[in-house]
Amino acid sequence: MANKVKPYDCPIESGKATPTGVKCPDCGKGEIVPARGRFGLIYACSEKPKCKFWLRARPTGKRCQHKHEDGKQCGVLMMEGTKTIPDRCSDKTCPNHNPHKLKT
Ligand SMILES: [Zn+2]
Ligand SMILES: [Zn+2]
Repeated sequence: MANKVKPYDCPIESGKATPTGVKCPDCGKGEIVPARGRFGLIYACSEKPKCKFWLRARPTGKRCQHKHEDGKQCGVLMMEGTKTIPDRCSDKTCPNHNPHKLKT
């Protein structure tokens, strides 16, 4: 992997960002690994640049359990939440992307 990362405060080099062991849902070949994006740490497919799949936050390996109105389960990868937001769906169009705003 030829990552051009700057040495300062890099979570990848300091070992804070570890491989996730989560398979890429897009190509099914790669693994989601920490990478340096334009705005800092992202989680991208190890098959990049062939595969363009990436997430803003670390995937948990779980799938979104949200049921859409048509009864289909969302099923996309969940991402780790923050202190204030629980684990969330990585699909921006899914209501579970903002679980703290969901009224159940
Ligand atoms: Zn991929
Ligand atoms: Zn979802």
